[in-house]
This record gives sequence, structure tokens and C-alpha cells, in this order.
Amino acid sequence: MTILERYQAMDYATAPEARSEADAWLAARDFSKSLFIAGDWRAGIDARTFDTEDPSDGKLLAKVSEAGAADIDAAVAAARKALPKWSAASGYERAKVLYAVGRAMQRHQRLFAVLESLDNGKPIRESRDIDVPLAIRHFIHHAGWTQSLDREFPGRKAAGVVGQIIPWNFPLLMLAWKVAPALATGCTVVLKPAEFTPLTAILFAEICERAGVPKGVVNIVHGGPEAGAAIVNHSGIDKIAFTGSSEVGKIIRKATAGSGKKLSLELGGKSAFIVFEDADLDSAVEGLVDGIWFNQGQVCCAGSRLLVQESVADAFIAKVKVRMSRLRVGAPLDKNTDIGPLVDRTQLDRVKRLVEEGARQGAVCWQPDCDVPTIGYYHLPTLATGVAPANILAQEEVFGPVLATMSFRTNEEAVELANNTRYGLAASVWSENVNLALHVAPQLKAGVVWINGTNMFDAACGFGGYRESGFGREGGREGLEEYLAPSEPHGPVIKPAAPRPAARDNGEGHAIDRTAKLFIGGKQVRPDGNYSLPVLTPKGKLAGEVGLGSRKDIRDAVSAARACKAWPDATAYNRAQVLYYLAENLSGRTEEFASRLVELTGASHKAAKAEVEQSIERLFYYAGMADKFEGLVHQPPVRTVTLALHEPVGVVGIVAPDDAPLLGLISLIAPALAMGNTVVAIPSETAPLVATDLYQVIEYSDLPAGAINIVTGKRAELTAVLARHDDVDGLWVVAEAETCAMAEAESTGNLKRVWTGHGRSLDWASAEGEPFLRRAVEIKNVWVPYGD
Ligand code: NAD
Repeated sequence: MTILERYQAMDYATAPEARSEADAWLAARDFSKSLFIAGDWRAGIDARTFDTEDPSDGKLLAKVSEAGAADIDAAVAAARKALPKWSAASGYERAKVLYAVGRAMQRHQRLFAVLESLDNGKPIRESRDIDVPLAIRHFIHHAGWTQSLDREFPGRKAAGVVGQIIPWNFPLLMLAWKVAPALATGCTVVLKPAEFTPLTAILFAEICERAGVPKGVVNIVHGGPEAGAAIVNHSGIDKIAFTGSSEVGKIIRKATAGSGKKLSLELGGKSAFIVFEDADLDSAVEGLVDGIWFNQGQVCCAGSRLLVQESVADAFIAKVKVRMSRLRVGAPLDKNTDIGPLVDRTQLDRVKRLVEEGARQGAVCWQPDCDVPTIGYYHLPTLATGVAPANILAQEEVFGPVLATMSFRTNEEAVELANNTRYGLAASVWSENVNLALHVAPQLKAGVVWINGTNMFDAACGFGGYRESGFGREGGREGLEEYLAPSEPHGPVIKPAAPRPAARDNGEGHAIDRTAKLFIGGKQVRPDGNYSLPVLTPKGKLAGEVGLGSRKDIRDAVSAARACKAWPDATAYNRAQVLYYLAENLSGRTEEFASRLVELTGASHKAAKAEVEQSIERLFYYAGMADKFEGLVHQPPVRTVTLALHEPVGVVGIVAPDDAPLLGLISLIAPALAMGNTVVAIPSETAPLVATDLYQVIEYSDLPAGAINIVTGKRAELTAVLARHDDVDGLWVVAEAETCAMAEAESTGNLKRVWTGHGRSLDWASAEGEPFLRRAVEIKNVWVPYGD
């Protein structure tokens, strides 16, 4: 035998991680009291328990207390009670507690890792080297934020009591992503881990006790969907932070509609892994292994769609197959294991079903010929080729070790395929040409883009999705925003629109009779239904008529907004100049607009003129901010720069108020336009002529056709159409409470970002600045590694 032959014949011996400490912990704990409420360990009120088992052999690990509604009540009450003191504690006080939690976790790092692998099935190398260190980093990083909150977020308060619901794929890491920013901002917490993986959360609660987290600040309750729903629907909770499937995310969006609860949703994905022909193919193969087979593919941002340039596709797939044959499928606690079992039999069955269906729809599913343990919920790594874009494996989140492969010819085709999904969580771009990679990254509809890398995370960098991957970010500055109460200045409560009295003609007649039309795609157009709506003065006299917009008109307006590429593609400097010009043109007609406001609102001439002047000032402000509200550059502790780019949300629907019909409208459309969004606006229902008078101002101001579209008509009806429209990306509503609640509830089709005033108007005199700009952007984190 030659040395080479000997070398090739060598196999790995098993290298098991010791589990004795974890077993001792499991044996010593009284799991019949595993709810952590108000600093006490309790059984559920009706003493129910559920099993958590080891997915590598199906053996019982523990019988864990299940929380019922009364337990959730107790946990919320404890969090409420602890809130005033915790949120009023100094930054330094909270920093010490967060730091102590991080340090105590560090001391028990190995126990956390082993428990996580036992409970979830993930290979010990991953829990030891990735999950647990990242979780610790999260606490230590956030300890640092507590003392800078006043400076970084002046005047902002804690969101309050937060309900947090997390999945099973990264049990401890997801807990850290939720709990650390909440504690840093002064919130108190009721957290529910996933029912498959409660163990590390129980150990974490022990750490909280030891690290001096005050009683009631962190409450941990266990259970499944029922317990989750009890948290979501609890009236004592101010904010819900959810990580899990898009399906449940939508249920939660509906359930919280109209409740005033703040909401962040971190949901599923179907992320693209794009390999260009000039990529370093061997590195890309290693990246792919990490991208799709890390944690058995049970990763929200798994690179589950491989898009490879046709010229290198065969060579690349051949390399992938060779690499797949070397993946070691086996026991989670073996340090040589690359792929462990899936979390549960139900998950294994689901993955098998999806693979069978993918094959039935024409995909060729290949698996390496490797050893698999005979017990446990193992699934071989699977490569699906010949996958049509509509194949279930290309569209559905499998959440297992299954890679769907497609090829592309041109850069444009790569972007189009990558974006052909309802999700938008992450993407990897592989090319040795950094110019190409940085050209492609902004075109991808995804919250995170890794260049020549994958699955990079850090507490300093935001993570979260576009589209049906949810909204809100975890980590970084933007992650803290999610735990701070909204800061918009409140205005009066908005009453539902009163039935219209019949119009009385003012008897003055109009020189030439004119009905204001709608403004769609840069043109004044008649409403589709050819109906119009009388506009009355406060005394009930007829001031004019406007088009009665319909569902079809909103659809046309959304299409025009979507088709307008010139505005989002314009430079920020260019957008600034157009907005300045808009302000300039409006200022030339100050008196005319003031008279219109006097006529329609009954305001004094002085007040009306002040409203017009303030509207002009506001346009000036946002023109100025167009090229200043920029992103950040992070330097995480790996050799990478992370560019937190501000991108437009897309097509934004805006429902403007009746009070301050000009200033309210301008205060909402100007930040949206400044950040490159295109807009479909529904102006004040009672004073729409103020908006229709703007058409000419807009026409003279060089705004490209479709950048702004205005549809007059009945607010509630038109808002419903916008809320249900899946091509609207964001919706801002200032209206009566019913319309706001409806907008939130009806937005679940594409999980558009909805902001409402919850039935109140704003104080328009001061409704300006960062909250509006922030709402007008999505933050995309682009990771760019450096070094050889
Ligand atoms: P899931 O949605 O079924 O469950 C998630 C959590 O929600 C669990 O704790 C569950 O008990 C609870 N839950 C279920 N129904 C509920 C209801 N009606 N009301 C309230 N709570 C309810 O998801 P899962 O199968 O546990 O996790 C996998 C999903 O999580 C995948 O889609 C994955 O992409 C996603 N995920 C996303 C991220 C992210 O950051 N975007 C991170 C990890 C996982």
C-alpha cells in the first residue's frame, strides 16, 4: 500500500463530545416546575407537561411544564410589575446586568452547546462554535448600548412589556436576539421558546437568576401554538417580537391588527446562492455547504436556491456532488459530524414530502451514497437539478438539507431568478469581481446580502427580511428601534367620516365648470367609474367636485408607481433637486393654496397661509435630507465590512389626514419621495381639492411620471384596496381607528409594512424627521469580506 492509498483509506474515528455534565443537569432539574415567572420556578396551573426528546434517537430528555392562559397572565403581570423600575434604571445599571448575563453564559458555554445539540440535533461543532458564542456576543454587545441610548435615541422610551416567540432552529441564539435588545432598552419580557427545544431557555433562566436580573424582568413560559397565541392576544403586552414561519407571522399580523401593539416579524426565506462564472468555484462550494447544509438546512436564510451561471454550471455541480459525498451524516455530539438529524419526525416527514413532490414536478433529486444512522430523524443532503422556477422546491421553504439548482446566462437573468420568490431574507453572491457583486447586491430584494460568503451574523449588524420574510430588524442600531416606543407627535383622535349632507350650490357659479380628475402615471385621468364626489365647504356649500376613485383606479395607480423606475434609480442629489423645485413651484402659488384651505377647512387666512408655508418648508427639509439620511458601515469582529444601506421600501400607499389637508399630505409624501419610493396617495376625503390643485405644481416640477399618483375618493374603501394589493410594499394610514385596524388586518397577503396613527392624527407642525425617513427605507446589510 502506498502512502497515498493509506491516506485515502483512512477514515475518521468517532470524536464524541462528553455529555456527562448535560446529563447531570437534566437529572438534577425538576422539570415539573420549568416555567420561570416573577423569578420563581413554577408548574403550569393545570400541571400539564410536554415531552422534549433527542432527535438523534427519539429518547425522552425531559417532561417540561406547559403554560396555560393563567400562566401567561401571571407572566405578563410579573413583567408589567417589573417594568417601571427596570425601564427607569440607569443605563449603567442595566449594562451591568447584561454584561453579567453574557459572562455567566460564557462560564457555562459548553453546557449550553451540549444541551442545544441534544435538544435540537445540531452538530456540536455548530452549537459550540457558532450558536453559543454569537448568543453571548449579543448580550455583551447590547450591554454597551444601554449607556448610549439617551445620546443615540434622545427622548425615546422603552416599548414596554414585550411578548417574544421563537422557533426551534437556533433556540439559544434566537432567545439572545430577542432578550438582549429588549433588556438593553428597558423593556421586560415574556418569552416562549419553541416546544421542540425548551432546554437552553431553561438554563438561560437559571443564568438570569444568578446574574442578578431583577425578578419579573425576564419570564420564560413553555408550550406550543396555544401558549404563543395567548401571548399575542394578551392585552397587557405592548410589543410582539416573533420569529418563525411566514404562515404564523401572518396569523400574528392579523391578530394584532388594531391593537396598537408594536410588531416585528422575522420569518422564512428561500434565499438565492448566486455563482457567477468568474467565482472561485472551490470557495463557492465550501460556502454552499455552509449555506444549505449548516444546521441540516433548518436555517431561515439557508441558500436553498443555487443559481449558477450556465458556462460553469456542469463543472460546479460536479464539484458540489463530490463535496456532498464527503459530508458526514451522524450523531450530533460527534465532532466530525457535518449533518445531524432534523429536529423532529414531523419535520423529517415534511421534508420527505416536499422532495417527493419536487421530483414529481420534474426535478432530479440526487443524494450521496453515505452512511446514515438507522435510528433518529436523519435526511440525506439532497441536490435537486432540472428545477423549473415554478417547482415546489424552488418556491417553498423546505427547511431541510435540500438544494434546488437552476442556471442563468446573464447578470440580469440572475437577478430576475433570485427575486422570483415571495420571500426576501438573504442572498449570497459569488464573484471575484467585486464591482459586479456590488452592482448585483442592491438589485436583490433581500435584507442581507453576503458577498463571497454566507451565514455571517453579528450583534452589531441588523438582520431581517423584505417582503414575506417579515419586517423589523434584529441586531445593530436598527434592532434597538424595535424595542423603543414610537416617537411621532400625537394629534387629535380622528372621528369616522360623517355621512355627507346634500350639497347646497353656493350660487356663485364657476367660470368654466371643472371636475378635478385623478393623477395617475403623470397624467390627469378620469376615474374609471366616471363618478364624481362633491366637495363641500364647512358650511355645506359646494366647493367643487373630484373624481370618485375606485378599485380599478388604485390598481392603475399602483401599476404606474411600480413601472416608474426613473425615480428610485435617480441619484439622491437629483431627487433633492426635484423636491426643491416642487417647493419652489408651490411657493409661487402660496396665496392660491391658502385661499383653497380657507374655503375647504374654514381656517383663518393667517392659519391657512401658515399651513402652506410650512408645507413648503417641509418639502425643503426632505429635499435636503434626500442625500443625507444614509446608512452605516459596520466592522464586525470578522474580516468584513458590513454596509447597512438605506433602500427605498418600494411602492408606498399613503392615506393622508383631513386636518391639515396640505401639510399632512406633504409631511407624508415628501419623506417617501425623498428616499426614492414611488407613491400612491389618497388625499383628505373632506378637502381633496387641495391635493388636486397640486397636480399642476407636480407637472411643472420634473417628477417622473408615476413617481406620485393621487386618487381621490372614499378613504376607507380606497385604503382597503391598497392594503390588499400585493404590489404595494408599504402603507401609511392616518385615519379613523377602524380604517387603521382594517389596513393592518388586510395587509397580510404580502406582509407589506403598515404604519398607522391608530386612529389619531399627528401634530403636523412637528411631524418631521427621522421616524418618517426611517419608515421610508428598508435597511439592507451587505457583507463584504476582505483579505486573501
Ligand atoms: P412556527 O412558525 O411553526 O413556530 C414558531 C414559534 O411560534 C414556536 O414557538 C411556536 O410554538 C409558535 N407558534 C406557532 N403557532 C402560533 C400561533 N398561532 N400564535 C403564536 N405562536 C405560535 O415556526 P418553526 O417551525 O418553529 O420555525 C421555523 C420557521 O422559522 C421557518 O419558517 C424559519 O425560516 C423561521 N425562522 C426565521 C428566522 C429569521 O430571523 N427570519 C430565524 C429562524 C427561523
